[in-house]
Amino acid sequence: MKKAPSCLAKFLFDMEKTKWMTEAIELSKNNVNNGGGPFGAVIVRNNVIVGRGVNRVTVNCDPTAHAEVTAIREASKNLGTFDLSDCEIYTSCEPCPMCLGAIYWARLKTIYYGNTKVDAAKIGFDDQFIYDEIDRPINERSIPTKQILPEKAIEAFKLWDEKDDKIEY
Ligand SMILES: [Zn+2]
Repeated sequence: MKKAPSCLAKFLFDMEKTKWMTEAIELSKNNVNNGGGPFGAVIVRNNVIVGRGVNRVTVNCDPTAHAEVTAIREASKNLGTFDLSDCEIYTSCEPCPMCLGAIYWARLKTIYYGNTKVDAAKIGFDDQFIYDEIDRPINERSIPTKQILPEKAIEAFKLWDEKDDKIEY
């Protein structure tokens, strides 16, 4: 008798998750037919989709137009906030390092993903090299990365540090 409600709650909970992930997967499939990459994502808040995104890298000539980043931009715009900590993201594939960073910056509370990064690598979307680069010391990375004008660059940080009416994020 006592078990029934919690089983029902879990069933309904899973139904919701299935529904949102199905939406992300549908976006990913439709996007292939619309000239984009096979990736889709939705952001959900209080059981409502607040942002959708698909991969538009080649279509928009925008290397940052991954599904998750696009969905975050849309959700933030729709909600009028940079803080999505009361939202969850459903993405058709495990996020790449760029999207993972964006998800952490947006403070999304949960990530649900469909395909793994191994699945993505098998069809030509291998992001392992970026994870490897992050682990390397800065002077050993494949893109030369050199510090110049630090004494000038720090001026903006001082202005920020001393600003009284800043919006911290
Ligand atoms: Zn990405």
